[in-house]
Amino acid sequence: MPNFHAWLDEVRPSPYADQLSLGFRGLRFARALEREYRAHLLDDSFELKRFALSVAMVIWLALAVLDLLVVPASHLAWVLGVRFVVLVILLVCAALILQRRHTHLLLPLSMACILTLGVGAALIVGIVHQVDSGYPYEGLLLVSMAAYFLVGLRLSEALACSLVVLTAYVVAELLAGLPAARLINNVLFLAFGNLTGAVGCYLLEYKSREHFLVSRLMRLLAYHDSLTGLHNRRSFNRQFERLWRQAQRDGKPLALLLCDIDHFKAYNDCYGHQAGDAALQRVGMLIEQAARRPLDMGVRLGGEEFALLLFDIAADEARQRAEALRQSLEAAAIAHRGSDSAEVLTMSIGVACLTPGVQAELEQLYEQADRALYEAKAFGRNQVAA
Ligand code: GH3
Ligand code: MG
Ligand code: MG
Repeated sequence: MPNFHAWLDEVRPSPYADQLSLGFRGLRFARALEREYRAHLLDDSFELKRFALSVAMVIWLALAVLDLLVVPASHLAWVLGVRFVVLVILLVCAALILQRRHTHLLLPLSMACILTLGVGAALIVGIVHQVDSGYPYEGLLLVSMAAYFLVGLRLSEALACSLVVLTAYVVAELLAGLPAARLINNVLFLAFGNLTGAVGCYLLEYKSREHFLVSRLMRLLAYHDSLTGLHNRRSFNRQFERLWRQAQRDGKPLALLLCDIDHFKAYNDCYGHQAGDAALQRVGMLIEQAARRPLDMGVRLGGEEFALLLFDIAADEARQRAEALRQSLEAAAIAHRGSDSAEVLTMSIGVACLTPGVQAELEQLYEQADRALYEAKAFGRNQVAA
């Protein structure tokens, strides 16, 4: 897909685009991305796990009823005993999974469910084959299919579970004394079934990974400005409301710094649009550096207007941060011969600080910062007003 690759080159730098270009035939991303994907997969497959667990328990119970009809009376107690133990383990795992409190346990619990079902089924087949070699063993394939497709396991995990189940089956049959020819036939059937499942699982995981990368990339593009890499206005609006609610809950102040480059139209006129773009990128980097704490946010609102949203910060400190930002652009010493206010590119900053409460509205913060910015411009630019 030459067009796709050309497009990826355009949207770089992004770890998602890089990974898409690099490929992932071995079903593995770069380390940080892999961690992100696995966390996403756990979250994404939660409903699937819940559904699969309920279905598994219903099928397991239905098979117990069938056992009442087909298993010889001499071995029925053993078979029902295994069915009961498996059911109890499934119920315990289900209870832990459904609580959803221990995310790090979701994967081991899902694998434990598959292994319990598989080893339990192998044990039952082995027990019954001691007296009746016609008892169906194909149910083991259902367990493997669940591992490949129903619980959100990655291929390597599903494959590992299926291999353990297959081994348990072979051991159970050897103990039961199934004739070698039958055993080989059964194992071959199960192995080919597993191969089919594994191929399907590979394709599914490949598509799931691709979808993950593309959707993350789309999100990145939708919420970031392509010139500076900062958050865009859409992202700002979303995050602003979220932070506002959090600040309201925690009783913490929020500060908004609205920054506007001085005489930027003149800069474009003097040095050309491309130089203007480079200057905007430079300012973007300074804003990014100023948004250094995790909940801070640097934004390009549009054109030569930027914003810095700071969480849990006192008015004095917000003003100091604004002053430091203004000085950092001045210190970058980007020559601007068309400016009335200085010989270099400068910016004016309006600062507003509010603790969200019943009286303080979200719009107020923006209006106050905008008014302060207007004052900074009116008083001669290249300054901070609060
Ligand atoms: P003031 O000091 O009052 O803010 O004056 P100003 O010239 O900075 O403000 P004005 O709003 O008149 O002009 C903004 C200019 O920003 C106009 C436009 O050419 C320029 N601009 C907006 N977006 C971009 C961009 O993406 N790249 C470049 N190079 N210039 C841009
Ligand atoms: Mg402007
Ligand atoms: Mg301007």
